[in-house]
Amino acid sequence: MIYLDNNATTRTADDVLTAMQPYYREYYGNPHSAHHLGRRAMEGIEHARTQVGDLLGVSPKEITFTSCGTESNAIVLRGYRRKGRRKVVTTAVEHPSVLAVLQRCASAGEIDLVVIPVAPSGELDMNALEAAIDSKTLLVSVMLAQNETGVIHPIPEIAEITRERGVALHVDAVQAAGKIPLDVYKMGADFLTISGHKFHAPKGIGALFIREGFHVDPLWNGAGQEGGLRPGTEAVPGIIGLGIAAKIARERLSEQEWVRHLRDQLERGLLLACPFATANGASQPRLPNTLSVSFAGLFADEIVEALDERGVCVSAGAACHSGVREPSNVMKAMAKPLSQALGTIRFSLSRFTTATEIDTTVERVVAATGALTNGGRAREAAR
Ligand code: PLP
Repeated sequence: MIYLDNNATTRTADDVLTAMQPYYREYYGNPHSAHHLGRRAMEGIEHARTQVGDLLGVSPKEITFTSCGTESNAIVLRGYRRKGRRKVVTTAVEHPSVLAVLQRCASAGEIDLVVIPVAPSGELDMNALEAAIDSKTLLVSVMLAQNETGVIHPIPEIAEITRERGVALHVDAVQAAGKIPLDVYKMGADFLTISGHKFHAPKGIGALFIREGFHVDPLWNGAGQEGGLRPGTEAVPGIIGLGIAAKIARERLSEQEWVRHLRDQLERGLLLACPFATANGASQPRLPNTLSVSFAGLFADEIVEALDERGVCVSAGAACHSGVREPSNVMKAMAKPLSQALGTIRFSLSRFTTATEIDTTVERVVAATGALTNGGRAREAAR
C-alpha cells in the first residue's frame, strides 16, 4: 500500500503514540485536579504548549489548544469582533472551515464578505486584496498554503497591508505546519490555525495562535479551561501528541527538501508518461509535498478507485455525489477547463514516503489511466 493522501491526514508517528500512552494509563488525572495526577497532566499540557509555541516561533502564552483546525478557524471567524467594522476579506480558495463559516455569517447579516479571486495559476489577486482592505475591514483571513494545490500565499506581503491599515490578519496554516518554516511574528499573522493530524499527531487536536493584545470571544462557555477561550476538560493525550509532533516537525524540517525532491520526481514522471496530464499551481511557490495533476478527459473518482485497486491512496480534486460530477471550488476558482478539472487528482507525500514508492506510483498511474482510457470511459468532450 502506498499512501499519498497526507494532506487529508497523516499516520500518527510512533514517537507521538509512545509519548501519549502514559497520559492514558498513568497520568490520567484531570489537569485541574489538585492532586499529583492532576498536576502531572497540567505539566504535560504546559510543556506541549511550549513545544507548539516553538514550532511557530511564538510565546506559549499565545497558544490555545482546540479540537481541530476547523474549530481554531471558527473561534477567530465567529469570535473576533470590533465595533464599527464588519467587512471580512478572504479568498476563493479557502478551506470550507473558513469559507462556509464566513458565508454563513454574511447571510445572517453579521458581516460583509469580500472574496478575492485567484488567477488560473493559483496566484492570489493582490491588487483586489489591497483594494478591499479599508477602514471598515474587521479581518482578513487568508490561508498560508492551499490544501489541493499546495500554492503558498504571500502572507508577509499581506501582513504589511493589514498592519499599515490597522486590520487583524488570520492565517489558516493547517497545511503548512511541519512542511515549511513558520516564523509567525515575522510572517505578521495576528491569528494562526494549525491541526495535529496533518503533521503526524493524532486526529482531534488543534491549536490557535492569538497574538498578545488581541481578544476573541469563546464559541461556548464553561469552566474556564484554556483561559476561558476553549472551555471543556482538555484532551490531554492529544495535546501531548501535538506537542511532540511539533517538536519532531521542527527538528526534522530539513527532510522536507527530500520530500520536495520526491514530489518533483513524481511530477516529472507523471507528466512525461501521461501527455494528457497537467500540473496545477506549479508555477507558484508550493508546499514541498503536494502535487495536483489534472488528467484531461478522465474522471477523478474513477482514477481514485483504479489507483486504490492498485494499492495507491490519493484524493480527488473533484466531487462525485450520486453520479453527478462537479469540479472542486478550488479548480473552479482557478478557471480550469471542465475536462481537466473533473480529472484532478491530489498526490500528497510525507516524510515517510520513499523513492521506490514514487517510481511504483508512476507505473500504477500509467496502468490505471491507461485502463480507464482504453475502457472507453474517457469523456467524449475531451476527444
Ligand atoms: N484548513 C485547511 C487548509 C485544511 O486543509 C483542513 C483540513 O483538511 C482544515 C482547515 C480543517 O482541519 P481539521 O480537519 O483539523 O478540522
